[in-house]
Amino acid sequence: MATMADKADYYEVLGVSRTASAKEIAAAYRKKAIKYHPDSNPGDQNATQKFKQAAEAYEVLSDAEKRARYDRYGHAGLEGSATQFHDVEDILEAFGDMFGGGIFGDFFGGGRRGRRAHRGQDIRCDVTLDLEEAARGTAKTVEFQRSRVCPQCEGSGAAPGSSRETCRRCGGHGQVVQAAGILRVQTTCPTCRGAGTVVAQPCQACRGSGFVAGTVKREIRIPAGVDNGVRLRLTGEGEPSPDGGPPGDCYCFIHVREHALFHRDGSHLVLQLPIAYSQAALGATIPVPTLDGMDELTVPAGTQSGEVFRLRKRGMPDPNGGPRGDLLVQTFIEVPKKLSASQETLLRQLAELERADVTPHRRSFLDKLRDYFAPTEDQSGEDQA
Ligand SMILES: [Zn+2]
Ligand SMILES: [Zn+2]
Repeated sequence: MATMADKADYYEVLGVSRTASAKEIAAAYRKKAIKYHPDSNPGDQNATQKFKQAAEAYEVLSDAEKRARYDRYGHAGLEGSATQFHDVEDILEAFGDMFGGGIFGDFFGGGRRGRRAHRGQDIRCDVTLDLEEAARGTAKTVEFQRSRVCPQCEGSGAAPGSSRETCRRCGGHGQVVQAAGILRVQTTCPTCRGAGTVVAQPCQACRGSGFVAGTVKREIRIPAGVDNGVRLRLTGEGEPSPDGGPPGDCYCFIHVREHALFHRDGSHLVLQLPIAYSQAALGATIPVPTLDGMDELTVPAGTQSGEVFRLRKRGMPDPNGGPRGDLLVQTFIEVPKKLSASQETLLRQLAELERADVTPHRRSFLDKLRDYFAPTEDQSGEDQA
C-alpha cells in the first residue's frame, strides 16, 4: 500500500506547471494516457502503473475543487476523496468518452470503448440461528429472490422476432456527457441505462428487462462461533449483470436468537445464577448449565452477590481460530419474599446473632455514619452563627 508520503506530485506526473490551465492539463493527460495506454504497452507493468498515476493525477487536477485542496494541503487534503483506480478498466470507464469521440477512441480505433460491462447488484438474505447452532457451526438452507435470465427472450428483452437497436440518445456508448456550467459530468445514459442498446418491441414476459424474478435455494456453511450481525458473503450469488459482466454477491446476515439462559459478551457467555443466602454463606456445589451440558460450580463460603466465577473454555469458539471464550457465572443472592413459619423463626435467631457479630462492611458503614453525624469543633461554631 502506497502511503501519502511516497505519492508522486500530480503536476510532475502530468509534466505541467502548477499554473497550468484546465486545457493544458487535459492535453497533458491525453498525451500521457496515449503513451502509457495498455493497448500500446501490452504486459508492461511499469507502463500500466504510469497510466494509473496519470489518471489519478488528472482526476484530481481536472476537478477545480479537488485541485484547490491539493494545492493547499497536498495529498493529505484529498484523503478519502481521491478516486482510487483499481484497474485499467476503471480508468477507461471514468474517462474513456470524456472528450466527445473519446480520448482513446481516436487512437485505438474505438476497439476499447470507455464503457464496460457492469457488475450485477449485491443482494442480501437472512438466516436465524439458535445460540447452540452458532456455537457448533452448522449448515443452513437459505432461500432468496434473484433475477434470472428471461426464458422467453433469452435475456435480450426483445419480443420474439424483434431485436435490440442502438440507443439514439448516447449513440451506443451507454454514457452521456452533460454540461452543467463549466463542469462536464459523465453519467450513465438514462435511456438505455448504460447498455448502449434499447429494445424496440419489449418482450412480454420480462417487460423488456431481459430478466424475470426467481428464487434461489442455497446451503451455506455457518462457521462455529459466528456472532449476531455478521455477514457471510456468497460470492457470485447476487443479481446477474445487466450487460454480460460478472454477477454481484449475496450477503447473508446472521441473526442469533436470544438464549433463555446465556447472554453473549464477545466470545464469553454470561449466566446469571440465583443462589440462596445460606448457599452463599456456607458455600455450595451448584449444578450449572453450559452449552455442552450440565456442569457443577462450587461457590466458596462467603460468596457475595454479583461475584463472577469463570468456567474456562465453556464460552463461544472463535470463528477466526482464536481461543474459545469462557462461561462467566454471576451469582446473585435471592432473598425470599415469603417466609414459612420455621424459616422466620430461624432467621430471627440469626438476626439476634448478627446483632452481636456485625459483618466487616456493615461495621465500617456504621462507623462512617457515626462520624458523619458527630459535630466537629469547626462546624459547631459556624452552625450556631
Ligand atoms: Zn443510451
Ligand atoms: Zn423476456
